[in-house]
Amino acid sequence: MTRPPAAQRGEAPEPSGTRAAAVGPGTAVTALPGVGPRRAATLAAAGIERVGELLWHLPRDWQDRRRTVPLSAVTAGGPWLVRGRLERLRLRRLPGRGRCVVEAVVRDASGALPVSWFHQPWLAERLAGGGELLLRGRAVRRGGALRLEHPQWEAVAAEGGAGGLLPVYPPIGGCGSSLLRGWLAAALAAGAADALDEPLAEELRLRHRLPPLGEALRSLHQPPADTELAALRSWSDPAHGRLVYGELLAHQLELAQRARAQRDRRKPHRYRLDDAVRRRAREVLPFRLTGAQKRVVRELVADLERRWPMRRLLQGDVGSGKTLVAALLLLLAAESGLQGALLAPTEILAEQHAATLGRLLGRFHRVELLTAGSGAEARRAVARGAAVLAVGTHALFQQGQDFHRLALVVIDEQHRFGVRQRELMTGKGPDPDVLVMSATPIPRSLALTAYGDLDLAVLDELPPGRHPVETLVLPSARRREAYRRLRQELAAGGRGYVVFPAIAEGEERGGASLAGVGRAIRQSFAEVPSAELHGRMDAATREAVMESFRRGEVRLLLATTVIEVGVDVPEASAMIVESAERFGLGQLHQLRGRVGRGERPAWCAALHGPLTPLGRRRLAVFAGEQDGFALAEADLALRGPGDLLGERQAGELPFRFAQLPRDGEWLERARGDAREIAWKGAGSRSPPL
Ligand code: ADP
Ligand code: MG
Repeated sequence: MTRPPAAQRGEAPEPSGTRAAAVGPGTAVTALPGVGPRRAATLAAAGIERVGELLWHLPRDWQDRRRTVPLSAVTAGGPWLVRGRLERLRLRRLPGRGRCVVEAVVRDASGALPVSWFHQPWLAERLAGGGELLLRGRAVRRGGALRLEHPQWEAVAAEGGAGGLLPVYPPIGGCGSSLLRGWLAAALAAGAADALDEPLAEELRLRHRLPPLGEALRSLHQPPADTELAALRSWSDPAHGRLVYGELLAHQLELAQRARAQRDRRKPHRYRLDDAVRRRAREVLPFRLTGAQKRVVRELVADLERRWPMRRLLQGDVGSGKTLVAALLLLLAAESGLQGALLAPTEILAEQHAATLGRLLGRFHRVELLTAGSGAEARRAVARGAAVLAVGTHALFQQGQDFHRLALVVIDEQHRFGVRQRELMTGKGPDPDVLVMSATPIPRSLALTAYGDLDLAVLDELPPGRHPVETLVLPSARRREAYRRLRQELAAGGRGYVVFPAIAEGEERGGASLAGVGRAIRQSFAEVPSAELHGRMDAATREAVMESFRRGEVRLLLATTVIEVGVDVPEASAMIVESAERFGLGQLHQLRGRVGRGERPAWCAALHGPLTPLGRRRLAVFAGEQDGFALAEADLALRGPGDLLGERQAGELPFRFAQLPRDGEWLERARGDAREIAWKGAGSRSPPL
């Protein structure tokens, strides 16, 4: 949002020249006491040259000096917050291995109290500095004498004046918290925060009960006496809220304006939806659509019939039948004399999609597969329009493929590409309709930011007859159990996958590999036709392997994560994931989604090596949850958005303050406000969902 000129807001114009010596947001940091050329250079390296920029350097914590109790007033119980210096600090060994106690006496002006910490010998050294400490802990009476036991402690910052909440800053280069505290105090005393521009419309500020920007920053650097420390630390105070909301609003406004501009565009193509097309759709459908598929197809067809190009994100859990939705839309394009393209992230998936489309629609429309290996003839057929439907990898479409009348682009299993890549891939026709199908369900909060320029459609129902995939998490030491079960499954006519994090030994430190463990497994399963599949095989071999697995000639497939997304062999009913700790939660869910796609009950065993605490939690969540959306939320909470979207996309989330899912509620508010603003004056047109 741009700030209206001061006069328009009914304010007095900035005093110019009258406060020549004053420190304002625009003043160079060298005007602050103690900032010489060297420190100015350090700050500049961190992007801080002016006082206004320094104001945005927020405390990472606060020291609470308000409610300390004089030592003379401490009685049994607590917890008490006291402040004093340690005397007679010593480490005493106790009988028994590793047992010891660090003892001292803490003293303030009112008195003294013994204090002890058990079995933490390193404390003796850490506490030996002799400075003043804040201690928080319970007091107990032992043998008639009161003592503080196991208090939490922190050093009291030497400067900062009287009482209150003292900000603790992340250092900038060599400039530590106390230097920064001094500079910020000087800047605030000179009124720099109050002179900041207020970018947020007053109406919105009041709507959400937020302070003006300057006040928000000031109250983070120097919290008022009655501030709740817990609220500050959890970012649930109005000052942090102001920064988070402001940031999210700016981003949502950009997205809303983009969506709004999209509606002012006019696409040159029209679809022909009549009874003949409907009949044909019924003719090609191999199944009865689920309720969710019907609803989504209806929503998307309505989009196609609009005059502006569609921009949709279709979310659906693994196996919810996104491909069939895409196929129906592509059929509509083809029947309308237009071209459609289906893009996949891997060649294996592109090959599979080409086969599926060929099977469903090939009788009526020519489907062409475009991969690195496909010849000039195929490319020409697409460019001339002889092939109505083209299937290929994302990468391939980014290189110069021409189309004849490209109207609809479906991007499958996208989760590692950002807005920019998306635009590249859709620039192949004049304003094509675009449907992005997500690989992994992503939490709503992420969908609204990373894909906030797209309208959402959700497939929230699995085809009938699906059972949850029974999931076992086993240490590698118990891998025999898993393989015994796999043997039974194969003997009973099932088909199975074993997934490895690496092709060759030594590629994933300590993890199992196709060439190592994989080879041994194939030997011990000699009676079952098996094959390997990985990214370094040439396309023809890979395709042949996949095809024989599909037909059931190969019944045990040992693969790397090339099968992670999209691969669809409904007869597969068993999966073992080796070195499962090497995979992310979303990846595991995708992998597991390769089984249980038919009516045969399926299971998945995750074998793991030594686990970190986070790894253990991740596998526990994986075993206990089948729903992709719930898993995605859990993953977001465990790891943060960076990992969930893949690095590239996380890099595009432009947030400095906002954090998801913590700020989900601010996100919803910002989104609502942004849409209201972007659609103001848009007549009867309403914002997208
Ligand atoms: P995803 O959403 O993971 O891409 P797919 O489109 O690959 O899922 O579909 C998963 C499986 O479900 C496929 O084998 C597909 O043929 C099957 N399927 C899709 N829709 C239906 C339906 N309405 N009824 C029965 N099976 C279906
Ligand atoms: Mg799919």
